[in-house]
Amino acid sequence: MVSKYADKGYKAIFNHSQSAMVIIEPDERLTVLDVNEAYIKETWVTREQVQGTSLRVKSNNPALQDAEQDRDAICTKVDLAIQTQKPTYLNEFRYDLYHPATNSVKEVYWNFIFTPIVGNEGKVIYVIFAFENITEIYQLRIKERNFITQLEKERLRLKHILMQAPVGIAILNGPDNRFDLANPPFCNIFALNMEKILNKEMFEIIPLAKNLGYEEMLSRVKSTGIPYHGKAEAIPIFRNDKLENVYLDIVCEPLVVDGGLVDGVILVAFEVTKEVLAKQKLEEAEERARLAAMAVGLGTFDYNLITQEFQTSTLFAQIFGYSEKQELKTYLKGYHPQDRAQRLKAYEEALKTGNLFFEIRIQWPDRTWRWVRIEGKVYFDQNARPARILGTALDFTEERKSKIEQQKLMSLVTYSVDLMAIIGLGPGNFYINQAGASLLGGKDAKNILRKPLSQLYAPQDEALITNTIVPTVMDKGSWSGIIHVVHQETGELIPMMSNCARVEDPSTHEYLGIGVVMRDLRPENQAKQAIADSEALLRNITTAAPTGLWMCNAQGELIYFNQTWIDWTGVGLSQQIGHGWLSSLFDQDVETVVQKIKTACDTVRPFEVEFRIVHVDGTLHWIQGSGNPQYNSKGEFSGFIGAFVDTTDQKILQQQKDDFIGVASHELKTPVTSIKAYTQILEKLLVRKGDLKEAAMIAKMDAQINRLTVLIGDLLDVTKINSGKMQFNNQHFDFNELAREIVEDLQRTTERHTIELQLNFEGDVYADRDRIGQVITNLISNAIKYSPDADTIIVKSVNGDDELVFSVQDFGLGIEKSKKHRVFEQFYRASGHMQHTYPGLGLGLYIATEIIQREHGRIWVDSELGKGSTFSFALPLKK
Ligand code: ADP
Repeated sequence: MVSKYADKGYKAIFNHSQSAMVIIEPDERLTVLDVNEAYIKETWVTREQVQGTSLRVKSNNPALQDAEQDRDAICTKVDLAIQTQKPTYLNEFRYDLYHPATNSVKEVYWNFIFTPIVGNEGKVIYVIFAFENITEIYQLRIKERNFITQLEKERLRLKHILMQAPVGIAILNGPDNRFDLANPPFCNIFALNMEKILNKEMFEIIPLAKNLGYEEMLSRVKSTGIPYHGKAEAIPIFRNDKLENVYLDIVCEPLVVDGGLVDGVILVAFEVTKEVLAKQKLEEAEERARLAAMAVGLGTFDYNLITQEFQTSTLFAQIFGYSEKQELKTYLKGYHPQDRAQRLKAYEEALKTGNLFFEIRIQWPDRTWRWVRIEGKVYFDQNARPARILGTALDFTEERKSKIEQQKLMSLVTYSVDLMAIIGLGPGNFYINQAGASLLGGKDAKNILRKPLSQLYAPQDEALITNTIVPTVMDKGSWSGIIHVVHQETGELIPMMSNCARVEDPSTHEYLGIGVVMRDLRPENQAKQAIADSEALLRNITTAAPTGLWMCNAQGELIYFNQTWIDWTGVGLSQQIGHGWLSSLFDQDVETVVQKIKTACDTVRPFEVEFRIVHVDGTLHWIQGSGNPQYNSKGEFSGFIGAFVDTTDQKILQQQKDDFIGVASHELKTPVTSIKAYTQILEKLLVRKGDLKEAAMIAKMDAQINRLTVLIGDLLDVTKINSGKMQFNNQHFDFNELAREIVEDLQRTTERHTIELQLNFEGDVYADRDRIGQVITNLISNAIKYSPDADTIIVKSVNGDDELVFSVQDFGLGIEKSKKHRVFEQFYRASGHMQHTYPGLGLGLYIATEIIQREHGRIWVDSELGKGSTFSFALPLKK
């Protein structure tokens, strides 16, 4: 047997083989026939130690106890190879070796091949046991296996993370992009079933994405290794039973495996549809807001609170009076100084509440003032810091003006004493002011507004309202007339002067309702009634009065006569009006009356006039007329009111009296003249006889006769004056001489008074010397008579303007102011209860006046009660 393997050639091959080999006898004990060099090298034993040993016998080295357990397995494999005559194997088989040098056991892994060699007889002649030490490879493989396990775990973990990720993630593998993984968010986005898509081609699953360039994108990422980032990309996706346009943020990263090889991609998709739509909506809204702002004249601004940048629209600048956009500080310049604090306050407030609002006055560069309303919203950043204010500016000057106008109007309406209401279309559309509500008996307007309209006006006016008022207002725009309203508490029907007008929208002319202004007619009616009553009363009074009453206008045309006058003249009122009444006058007096009235109207002074009328009984009646100017409420002269008094009876009496005085004085004059003559003769006789005492008594009697003569003279003069028979013999005479003569005479009649002469007049006077002397005598006599306690009387003559002015001054009783002008009247005596102290008839000054007037002069008095009087007259100088 040895010869068989001992063949030189085989032996050399055997010994030089790189793998360790053992040749085993296929006998019962599996005897080791030989081992080669590689075996000796590998197992640190000598040939001698193993040659001839049984393979079945285990080593007794205690260190190898564990390893020797496996010897049975080796023997079993050898047995099997012998039995089957086919090679058997033991791979990655651990069989530890003893290392004698270090006295240690080494862990070694082997690959064993047991090859049976079959001899010519068809029997196994020996078994070649070849083995290879694979310890290093084996350990590497173990490491690799652990690594793969680890890797697998990692992969699972990653998968888990990817599955949990809140964004859509998919891993696509291979050139045809098959789904290796797709997490639920990804599936949700694309409405996919996770199980069904794995290992399927992406574009088969999401065909709609195919023609959008994503195929090229994926291959580009894979070929270049450069990731792809897409923002808000629109992809049509069929989900929720309809085709939707979905917006995705997409990231595509190359999936690098096996040291730089790109095998697939990670696709990250994040749906931003809501955000995109919201943004689109916001943009649209912003655009709409911008357009709307433009359309309604709103200027816009964007104030960056961090950079202090202030952006505005052109319209904003225009609202501030500029044609171009300006910087913030330029705008601020226009703010009214008083409104600046308000602006700052509004900003402070805005930072708290988020809303900006203030109204300010802006001065334009052309110095006009405008009202501007600023409104805005504060935007905060992620740290809740105010970042921007976006807002608008509106010029509401006109609005404000019209608001103020409206307020004024409203307060007019509210505080008006008239009822004002607006009756709009439909129920509840009714307004009434406070005055109206109270007039209708409501405590407040609400009270009235609750009532149905038909309860507020009189039922009898219903037809008028529906048939006339409403159609007229609709058709013509307005109606006025009387409507009766009902007092809601008393039920009183109140007549109201009403103006109804159609209220319409000023721009569209759309009908809005009916505006009503009503005035309570009761006070007016009461006043009218009162006037009518008092007119009737007056008419009765004036009719009853025995006096003709009349009124004329500023032109002197008669506009009213009372019944008395109509009765006197027997002419109807209509014929009297204007100048018609003059036909009732006595022809000769018409001119005088017309002149008087004309002058009175021109001068606007009270006047008196005397005339005669042809009475209804056919006789002439004397009328004494007087008129007083009247003025209207504006103070303008409106005419005269006057009275006509029938003085016929008085005239007759006067005439009778004049006649009597005339006759009486005439009859008295002759006997008194005789008496005076006899008295003078008697005085002379008694003086001659020496009866001086008696003579003195006769002298006194003469003085009394003188007074009587004067009185009779006065009476006769009056008679002459009244009958127009006083005669004047005018001549040139020395006035001062006349005055001196009279003073000399009169000085003799008084012991108490000294009459001082201040005769400074120069020139001649042309008049009746005796009559003027009569006036001088009268004035000086009065001065003596009415200053019993004074001792001086001053008589003066001076030159005035083309006239002589003569005066007599005394320091006596004086005359009351109210009586001054009356002393020149016939029979008037101012001394009252004292008149018996001062004898007289009250004729002297009357006659004096008559004389001076007939000589074309003037006579007057200055006097103060208790201090004295100065009577003066002036006579024109005839050249
Ligand atoms: P008689 O003296 O006769 O009363 P006159 O016509 O002369 O009438 O005067 C009228 C009135 O005027 C007088 O009664 C007197 O009251 C008043 N009177 C006239 N002269 C004076 C005077 N010098 N001082 C005061 N009163 C006078």
